[in-house]
Amino acid sequence: MTSRDRATAGGLGRSGMRSPAAALPLVQAAGAVAGVAAGPPGLTRPAPRRAAPPRHLADLDPAQRRVAVSELGEPVFRAGQLSRHYFARLTRDPVEMTDLPARSRERLSAALLPGLLTAERELSCDSGTTRKTLWRAFDGAYLESVLMRYPDRVTVCVSSQAGCGMACPFCATGQAGLTRNLSAAEIVEQVVAAGRVLATGAVPGGAARVSNVVFMGMGEPLANYRGVICALRRITDPVPDGLGISRRSVTVSTVGLVPAIRRLATEELAVTLAVSLHAPDDELRDELVPVNTRWKVAEVLASAWAYAAATGRRVSIEYALIRDVNDQAWRADMLGTLLAGRLVHVNLIPLNPTPGSRWTASEPEVASQFARRLESHGLPVTVRNTRGRQIDGACGQLAASTHPPVR
Ligand code: SF4
Repeated sequence: MTSRDRATAGGLGRSGMRSPAAALPLVQAAGAVAGVAAGPPGLTRPAPRRAAPPRHLADLDPAQRRVAVSELGEPVFRAGQLSRHYFARLTRDPVEMTDLPARSRERLSAALLPGLLTAERELSCDSGTTRKTLWRAFDGAYLESVLMRYPDRVTVCVSSQAGCGMACPFCATGQAGLTRNLSAAEIVEQVVAAGRVLATGAVPGGAARVSNVVFMGMGEPLANYRGVICALRRITDPVPDGLGISRRSVTVSTVGLVPAIRRLATEELAVTLAVSLHAPDDELRDELVPVNTRWKVAEVLASAWAYAAATGRRVSIEYALIRDVNDQAWRADMLGTLLAGRLVHVNLIPLNPTPGSRWTASEPEVASQFARRLESHGLPVTVRNTRGRQIDGACGQLAASTHPPVR
């Protein structure tokens, strides 16, 4: 995967504007975040309690599926058949399950493959090779995913939460706040849905499969730790237990929830970790990424290096270039000094501003100079293109322009 995969919905293509003064008090707690401490008192607010999404096959590991099938009065091998339909054939339609007895199909499908997401709106650009979908969940929560086709791969950018509680002031999703965590199956279904579209040949280039998944849509993935870990296993488990996508082709992006990064390093998943840094100094990062008031730059980077050491995977450092805010030459040198000699790649992403934002992207020449200064420190650097600008490509923009946040 290259930095182009991160071009659209997530990470640093996310933009918007909230005044820093308004943003700071609104760091919402990660809610039911396993293993992740909430921010300091007064800086956190729990997500509203909401009904849980219906149980789905993709929420369960293979052993749990066998138990679930057995409880429905079916032989346990039906779990494998059902898994193959969903993860390999990408279908939940009982009519297509011809290897199952007619009397079992409807019952199994209704119980373990409920419809989770309804496409509310779809937009495309880049000659149809970038497609953004606004999804409505069972409870009316909205989320977004983006499919991006390149000559050599297809990347799906998924949301891990409906909304986000991290309150980054340049981000459309951050302005709306957190609605709720997505279930593992709701995350997986975004990938499966993209796979269905690709299989039909509807995306220019012929029929294809999803090759890469990036957790850079709405939400802070590590604030939905349990759901995201479960989804990562379903995405990377071999077919038919999961979708069989290479771990190397999956990226989890975080603003720096240090305990969760350290825990992720122990999961033996070895996916790519992307850290949204945006500033090398705590003074500015406290403003751009409010959770920095809880975990400082040094702590975040230390956890990233520990992740690289544990997994052998190169860490991506994401840096939104914001004109006259964080794109000064001295900040490039400061960042270069922090990262030099590490197993790292830097992605510079010109900010994708939301309408009315007072912050905007750095000038191309400034971005190039910033990249050159980083390279002078021996760092591999990419200035990312930004797919999907015409379709409210930054995460949260489509939801914000279509529906008010669901609270
Ligand atoms: S962590 Fe949340 S608020 Fe910050 S950029 Fe990502 S989606 Fe937006």
